[in-house]
This record gives sequence, structure tokens and C-alpha cells, in this order.
Amino acid sequence: MIFIEKEIQTAAYLFASILFILSLGGLSSQESAKRGVFYGIVGMAIAVLATVLGKGVEGHVYIIGAISVAAIIGTLLARKVEMTSMPQLVAILHSFVGLAAVLVGFGSYLDPATHTLSGTEHTIHLVEVFIGVFIGAITFTGSIVAWGKLEGKIMSKPLLYPGRHAVNILMLLASIVLGVLFAGAEGLDGMMYLYIMTAIAGFIGVMLVMAIGGADMPVVVSMLNSYSGWAASAAGFMLGNDLLIVTGALVGSSGAILSIIMCEAMNRSFFSVILGGFGTVKSSGEATAIEGEVTALNHEEVADLLKEARSVVIVPGYGMAVAKAQYPIYEMVKILQKAGKKVRFAIHPVAGRLPGHMNVLLAEANVPYDIVLEMDEINEDLPETDVVMVIGANDVVNPGAQDDPSSPIYGMPVIEAWKAEKVIIMKRSMSVGYAGVENPLFYKPNAEMLYGDAKDSVEKILGFLKA
Ligand code: NDP
Repeated sequence: MIFIEKEIQTAAYLFASILFILSLGGLSSQESAKRGVFYGIVGMAIAVLATVLGKGVEGHVYIIGAISVAAIIGTLLARKVEMTSMPQLVAILHSFVGLAAVLVGFGSYLDPATHTLSGTEHTIHLVEVFIGVFIGAITFTGSIVAWGKLEGKIMSKPLLYPGRHAVNILMLLASIVLGVLFAGAEGLDGMMYLYIMTAIAGFIGVMLVMAIGGADMPVVVSMLNSYSGWAASAAGFMLGNDLLIVTGALVGSSGAILSIIMCEAMNRSFFSVILGGFGTVKSSGEATAIEGEVTALNHEEVADLLKEARSVVIVPGYGMAVAKAQYPIYEMVKILQKAGKKVRFAIHPVAGRLPGHMNVLLAEANVPYDIVLEMDEINEDLPETDVVMVIGANDVVNPGAQDDPSSPIYGMPVIEAWKAEKVIIMKRSMSVGYAGVENPLFYKPNAEMLYGDAKDSVEKILGFLKA
């Protein structure tokens, strides 16, 4: 077996770190995203090779075997997963990072080599193990609950029980006491404290994510992304691996920044979300009764409305992703543009099920970026818009977020579709969106429903537009 010198390994780690930074930079815009992913892949390949070929590494057969099996599973999963299920996949991958940090922590504590440490060095090592296992366990269970919520296996409504903040604080205090006992224990005597703290941290992870409502899930996913980075960084400290420390810190801090951006976009307090809804306005969970009548149009009537309109704004949502309607939608846009109409897309920052979901789908269908506008850019134009087509969106156009303080999504900025002259809502039924809240938009006098699968409906409208 060929081993590489420590200096070469350090240089490779440095190079990989630079590639990871370039990768994150690339991911910040759609045009450079593919390049960003490529940098990430190359950086990770270099990192794995430099680690496996490092001096002192043994059991290469097992390592190569494990990497091969994992690579096959990863490739199959990634090829199979639907775009709409990406957040679930991401959540479950975060749970692996958390679990890895827990296992590294236990492994490092049991490792005879670490028992030769003494004095401050020994204490620092124990603190690293304890913190690493603590963050890892929270990330592990929190991510599993997030997966369950996104997959629809666990209710998306927040689980709020009286005194939960007191319970969380007590568990945190208990963990600190266990940490002190652990750091003071001789030999392997601290194992029991480590076990108890792992169980407590696992419980905290479950409770923190259970307390988050459906509409705040995007922030939770990016928060868990951040936690998984810190867990990896902690594992790096335990293993004395600089690259893991740097990479973990990059993931941890970029995840935290993304969470802050999403919190700002959703008008949520960052600390309230990471602390499991601490300090949020208590809502009854049930929105005020809605007044008004729901009326519906057929495809031909919608096509006629579009023919008469001068300006059209399309608000896509999760349903567009499910129906894969972006291709016929763009075909429809081109026909309307040819007829001299001003057509634009309005994108809510949390539309769909993952950050940037709608932008990715529209880019896939070759929709030019200059007609895709963010919520803040388009909202002021909506009162002058003739027709807004809400295609498979629900929560992101819910007026209750602005004017119903009892609504669980109250305070979240939304696309003000109801301000247009006419709103057409295309979905299959009257069912609620991800946050589980009724939508008063459907009952507005200027709103009309067009029931059916989004792709099917757009194709039928296209038929009438072409006729
Ligand atoms: P919603 O989940 O609020 O609503 C989507 C609507 O699409 C449903 O009401 C559904 O109604 C309709 N729909 C489903 N399938 C189809 C189909 N084939 N054809 C037509 N309509 C369909 O989506 P939004 O995009 O408005 O909001 C996103 C929600 O998800 C927010 O609450 C957000 O916080 C949350 N979220 C976002 C994440 C992100 O990162 N972006 C991550 C996790 C959660 P019907 O069944 O009647 O057809």
C-alpha cells in the first residue's frame, strides 16, 4: 500500500478546503451552481483519498468495501429520488452526519490511544467528545423527525405542550451537570454519563423539531444542515482531522446564514425557531372562520381570461413540482408573450419543499431569469395586474398570514395574489397546503378555482389558446 507524507496530506487538505469554499461560492447563483457542485465533488474525492492514504490508516479493505457499498446506495438513491422528495433525502443525510458524530465520540472515548492523554489535554479531549456526541445526537433524532414531517409520516402541526420550555431547559441543565461529571471521571468511568446525555440529547432533538409548525420546516431543514456541520466539525476535533474541522465549520456557518436569511424572509425570529418555537405568538392553530363563496371556472373560460389580459403573473408552488407542469407552463407563457402580453413569475422564498425549488424547476424548463421575480419585487405590481395564475401554490398566497392573528402562519410575508383584478387558483381540490391552514384567498370575490392536476389543466388551456 502506498502512503502519503503528512506534508502532502496537509497540502491536499488545504486544496480540498479551497475547493469547498469555491463550491459554496458557486452554489450562490444558478448560473454557477453546476460548477459549484463539480468543485465540491473534486474536493471531496481529494479529501477522501488524502485521508485513506494517510500514514497510520489501517484496514483499507474494509474502508474501500464500505465506501463502495455506500457509493452504490448513494447513487441509486440519488437517481431514484424525485425533485419533490429532495428535502426528505437531505434530512435523512443530515441524520447520518449526526449519527456519525455520536459514533466517533464513543469510539474516541473508548480508543486506548486517547487514554494516554493527561491533564488539560485529557480534559479538552473529554469536552470535545461530550459536545460532539451532544450535537450529534440532537442532529440525528431532529433530522429523523424532520424527515418524518416532510414525508408526511409525522403530523406537520407543531406539538406544543405546556411547560415544554421548562422541560427543555431542565434537560439542558442536566446535560451540563452530566458533562461536568463526565470530565471528572477516571478511565472509562464516564461511560454511563455519556449514555444518559446521549439519550437526553436525542430527546431534545425530537422535541425541538416536533414543536415546529409546517410552514417553518424550511428553516428547520437548513438549521439541521447547520447542526450537522457543527457535528462534523466536532468529530474533526475528536479525530484531530483539520479538514473535517474546516469543512464542518463551512457547512455549519453557511447553514446558519441560510437559516437567518430564511427567517428574515418569513418574518420569524431565528432564535425562536432554533429553540423549538420559543417565544412565538401562541396561536390557536385554527384560523378564523372564512366568509364568502368558492366559485370555479373551466379551462376554456380561463383561456378566454388570458386572451383578454394585458398582464399576467404566475405564482408557482409545490403542486407545480408534483405535476411537473413547468414545461407546458413555459409553452403557455411563450404564446401569451407572442400575443403581446406582459407575463412574469412570482417566486416566494419558501415555495415548494426546498430553498430555490421553483427557480430550479423553471430553469429546467428554460424560463429566462429576467421574467422570474422574487416576492418583494412583484408584490407592488400586483394591484395593476390583470390575471394572477396560482399554479399548485397554497400557503405562499394565504392572506390569513397578513390579516388573521389566529392563523398559525400569521406574520409570514406572502405573495398578495388577491390584489390583482382576477386570481385563478389551479389545484386538484379544496385541500389545505403544507402548513395545514385553510386559505381565505379561495373565497375572495375576484378568485376562481380551476380544479385538476396542474399539468393537465395547463395543457388543456394551451389547447384553447392555440385554437
Ligand atoms: P403548499 O404545500 O402550501 O400547497 C401546495 C398545493 O398544491 C396543495 O394545496 C395541493 O392542493 C396542490 N397540489 C398538489 N399536487 C398538485 C397537482 N398535481 N396539481 C395541482 N395542484 C397540486 O405549497 P406552497 O408552495 O404554496 O408552500 C410551500 C409550503 O411548504 C410552505 O408552507 C413552506 O413553509 C413549506 N415548506 C417549504 C420548504 C422549502 O424549503 N421551500 C421545505 C419544507 C416545507 P390539492 O391537493 O388540492 O391539489
